[in-house]
Amino acid sequence: MGKSMATETKEVKTKAQKARELKEKYDTLVAEAKQEQLDAITASIGELKELGFVYTLTEGNAPLPSKSVATRAPKGQAKPKVAPGPSANYDEKKKCALCDMLGHDQRAHRSQEPKAKFLPQELEVRGLVAP
Ligand SMILES: [Zn+2]
Repeated sequence: MGKSMATETKEVKTKAQKARELKEKYDTLVAEAKQEQLDAITASIGELKELGFVYTLTEGNAPLPSKSVATRAPKGQAKPKVAPGPSANYDEKKKCALCDMLGHDQRAHRSQEPKAKFLPQELEVRGLVAP
């Protein structure tokens, strides 16, 4: 037959070049494999969702949402017991000698020490204000 074609000068690759090429192939392969797996997982997640289970795929080294430091609200000071209305406990049949007024009697002063005439503010808190 004819003359054999001129022997092509086979490109001689250095090991470094081969390594680079293989690395590129490897990277491509890994990327494709990753995508393949992701597709499979996404499909599975979709199936789970259809069954009523909602999952989300999260990359492992993705930053976790920073947990907000649990800030505890300072405990509110105990509120003094306040009558439901300024005149809620007012009883016109009672008369207090201590306060010299109607609406309550001296029993209202039981918890008071020392016993003294109620201030308008105290009357309001105790619900003893005249309506
Ligand atoms: Zn009184």
